[in-house]
Amino acid sequence: MGEWKSDESSVRCDWVTIDCTRNHLCHILVVQEERICKRCGRGIEWRKKWEKVWDSIQYCSDACRRQRVNAVDRQLEECIVRLLSQCASHATICPSEAAREVFPFAWCDQMEEARMAARRLVAEGIIEITQGGRVVDPSHAKGPIRLRKSKNFPPSC
Ligand SMILES: [Zn+2]
Repeated sequence: MGEWKSDESSVRCDWVTIDCTRNHLCHILVVQEERICKRCGRGIEWRKKWEKVWDSIQYCSDACRRQRVNAVDRQLEECIVRLLSQCASHATICPSEAAREVFPFAWCDQMEEARMAARRLVAEGIIEITQGGRVVDPSHAKGPIRLRKSKNFPPSC
């Protein structure tokens, strides 16, 4: 079971109606731990149909479940971490810089993969996604994003 976290953004609450006694419907507040898709790194919306299997939901969609995370996706994550480790703490990089390194000839087609890798690193807590210098919600950020180290970024040797 998930544990209580002081950071409110990591939990969400849903009112669920249950039939607690005969002819009596009761509304209870269920605390849902936020789930992040293991492939695209976006928050997974809680759905009623997943009520009983919520603890086992790992992917946001069939597409993500089919694709999973492959060796190239890991390479993109490593590349982002390596590029940032060479930067000053508040310097930012564009996800395309990692895409260009991993796919020198077809990086344009891999931008979404690079953004997914960035979101997974945000879920791990080691980087932040920014727009206009402000940290943004990785699930809903639209348009160009920049990446920078979070305070939990592993110290470089
Ligand atoms: Zn997903």
